[in-house]
Amino acid sequence: MAPQFLNDFSKEVMTPKNVKKIFIFMEKIFANFSSQNITSKFYCYFSPKNFVIFRIKSIILFPAAIIRILISMQTSSSFQDFFYFLFECAAIFIEIILNKIEETLSDLIETPGNLIQDFLDSIANSLDESHPIGRPLQKVVLWLGGVISTVCVLISGLVKGIGSILSGLIGGLLRIIGSILVLNGPQILIGAWDILSGTLSAIILTGGHVIILIQSILLLQPHRRPLNEKEKRILSKIFQSSLALYNIRLVEGWCGFFMYDNRPFNFGNMVFTKDFRVSDEPDLLVHECTHTWQFQNVGARYLADAILVLTFMKNPYDWQNEINMGKDRWVLFNRESQAQFMEDIFMKGKIEGSGSKRVGVFYDADNETKVGRFSVKRRNFTELANDAVDTVRGRISTRLSRLFFG
Ligand SMILES: [Zn+2]
Repeated sequence: MAPQFLNDFSKEVMTPKNVKKIFIFMEKIFANFSSQNITSKFYCYFSPKNFVIFRIKSIILFPAAIIRILISMQTSSSFQDFFYFLFECAAIFIEIILNKIEETLSDLIETPGNLIQDFLDSIANSLDESHPIGRPLQKVVLWLGGVISTVCVLISGLVKGIGSILSGLIGGLLRIIGSILVLNGPQILIGAWDILSGTLSAIILTGGHVIILIQSILLLQPHRRPLNEKEKRILSKIFQSSLALYNIRLVEGWCGFFMYDNRPFNFGNMVFTKDFRVSDEPDLLVHECTHTWQFQNVGARYLADAILVLTFMKNPYDWQNEINMGKDRWVLFNRESQAQFMEDIFMKGKIEGSGSKRVGVFYDADNETKVGRFSVKRRNFTELANDAVDTVRGRISTRLSRLFFG
C-alpha cells in the first residue's frame, strides 16, 4: 500500500490531460531515435498531428507519472503498456547511442580509403594515355585505389557489424525481458528477431564486403565512383543532414556476384545500379539511397530486415498494404516499403496550387509558402508523406565526413 501523501499527490498532478502530455513529451524525445520495430501500439497512440511543442512542465510531471503508475500497479492494464514502453524506450536509447558511435567510427575508417581512391583516380585521369605506358599505368593506379578503398570499406563494415550485433543483443534482450514481465508473448518474438537480425546482418555485411573486395582485386566489377553534383543535389534536398553523401559510391554496369537479378541493389554505402542509369531514372537513386539512409541511421540490420520481407512477403514494395495492416507511420513500414514510399513521393508528390510536374517538388515543401501534396489514385497520403519526410530528416548524421565533404 502506497503512503497516503503519494496517493494524494498523484491524483492531483496525474490528471488524464497531464498523463497525455507526458506521453507526448516522451514520444517527442524518442520519435527521433526510433527504429522501425518500435511497438506499433505506441506509435498508433501518437499521430504526428498530436505533437505539441515540448514544455518544461512535462519534465516535472514525469517522475510523478512513474509514481502514479507504481501505485496503480496491480489494477491498471495501461500500466503494462507503460511498463513495456519503458523497456522499449531503454532499448531504443541504447540502439541509437550504439548507432551514433558505430557511425562515427566506421566513417573514420571509410573516409580515408575513399579519399585515397579519389586522389589516385585524379592522378590516373591526368596520365598521358598516348604515352606507351600511360594506359597500363592508369589501369594500375585505378585498380590500386579501388582495392585500398574496398579494404577500408570492409574494415568499417566490421565496425558497423559489431554495432549491429551489440544493439540487436541489448535491444532484443530488453524487449524480451519487458515482454516477459508484462506477459506479452508476441512481443518476445520482436526481441528475438532483433537479436537474430543484428547478428545475421553483421555476417551478411561482412560476407558481401569480402566478395566486393575479391571482385575489386580480380577486376570483376566496375570502378566505384562518388556521386556527381546533380545526384548530391537531389539527395541532400530529400535527406538533408540525415544522410552523409561522401562515402556513397555507385557501381555501374555488370557487377559479378550481385547480378543474380537485374534490379538495382543497395549494399551499405554502395549502390549497384546494374543496367540502369540513375541520370535517366533518379527515382531509383532515391529508392536505393533510402536503404543507405537505413544503413546509416538504423544500422546494418536493415539488410536482414529487408531480406526477410523480400523472402516472405508477397509484395514488400506495396506500402499501401502496410497501411491496410494498420501501420499509420512511415517508421513502421517494412524496409522496402519505406524506400518505395520515398521514391513514390519523389515521383508523384506535388506542391499545392502549383502546376509544376517536376519530379521531387514535394521535397521543396516548407508547409508555409509551399504546401506539399501526395496522392495516389485520388487517395490523399499527404499526412503520411509529411510524417515520412519529418522522420527521415529528424535524424542527424554523426559522420564527420559529412561536415567536410557533404
Ligand atoms: Zn529496395
